[in-house]
Amino acid sequence: MTRKLNFYAGPSVLPLEVFEEIQKNMVEYGDSGLSLIETSHRSATYDEVHMGAISLIRELFAVPDNYKVLLLGGGATLQFGMIPMNFLPKDGHCDFVVSGSWSKKAYDDAKKIGSVNVLFDGKSEGYVSLPDAGDVKPSDGSSYVYITSNETIGGVQWKDWPDTGDVPLFCDMSSDIMSHPVPVEKFGLIYAGAQKNLGPAGVTIVIVRDDILERCADGLPAYLDYRTHANKDSLYNTPPVFPIWAMKLVLERMKRIGGIEAMAKHNRDKASLVYDVIDGSDGFYRCPVDERYRSEMNVVFRLPSEDLEKAFVAEATSKGMMGLKGHRSVGGCRASLYNSMTVEGAGELAEFMKGFMKEKR
Ligand code: PMP
Repeated sequence: MTRKLNFYAGPSVLPLEVFEEIQKNMVEYGDSGLSLIETSHRSATYDEVHMGAISLIRELFAVPDNYKVLLLGGGATLQFGMIPMNFLPKDGHCDFVVSGSWSKKAYDDAKKIGSVNVLFDGKSEGYVSLPDAGDVKPSDGSSYVYITSNETIGGVQWKDWPDTGDVPLFCDMSSDIMSHPVPVEKFGLIYAGAQKNLGPAGVTIVIVRDDILERCADGLPAYLDYRTHANKDSLYNTPPVFPIWAMKLVLERMKRIGGIEAMAKHNRDKASLVYDVIDGSDGFYRCPVDERYRSEMNVVFRLPSEDLEKAFVAEATSKGMMGLKGHRSVGGCRASLYNSMTVEGAGELAEFMKGFMKEKR
């Protein structure tokens, strides 16, 4: 099989060596005589995988000791509701930065639970920019400030973090988690679906500070209360064992190739290859995003016409470059360059873009 180049926004590219390892161990995990995915989640065999994945996240992402790392189901979308259910009191409010489609979805869910104050809304400009981190200040009496580190559809990424003082900062890092170092201690809660940078779909990572857990609302159904999972090492119910195993393999590989610092350099290099073509194209390719906040994960760009965009995607697809069509809500093109996309892959895309421009302009 020839593996194609995978620029899908999620689920997204995973390392070949991870698939090979899964393939080798799928029928029989080690010499256990069983597949891992038919083994009890209470067994010693699974426990090692589960706790191993958590400890690799702690180690590679430099998670301080006063934070819990939870592995949950329900997708990142469950967190849109779980966060306000736990932390938005009936008589209080929280603050939101609405910087794109994903924060808007989280905002819409939070509003169903309680009162939400908007600190910034990028809608009128088409979600192409962010506020200065220094301008993001919580309102009086706010329970938390909510941001989205990388807007997967708009291609907008924070480069610096707001200082929200005593009001905890909560962040959806679904599309850039562990793509570069983050000062976890600046956040009260971080969450991310694994299916972009860390593994297959099905597991969501939540990193939450111990004192924030003490604020969880009482009376929630067990699964929706973060403390349920924190008190049981995310083994209260059956965890998504297969995605957790696969994620552990991705994390082990990340460690082998130099950890988060190496990842960050690799991601910067890939994004530069593609942005350089856009910037050097004399307007043939156009990135609508404010240069200060261009995403290293999701490079969005337009061509001179929708017909050319269609032709671009069709020709790229015929050459084995998959997933370059922009999100259906915004059109255009998008190249997702998550952790497991290689520099060579991004380079091939850059060369293709140059060739296409030469031919069509
Ligand atoms: N947040 C962001 C930033 C996302 O990109 C996505 C999915 N693309 C989600 C949340 C929702 O994730 P899920 O599909 O796992 O619910």
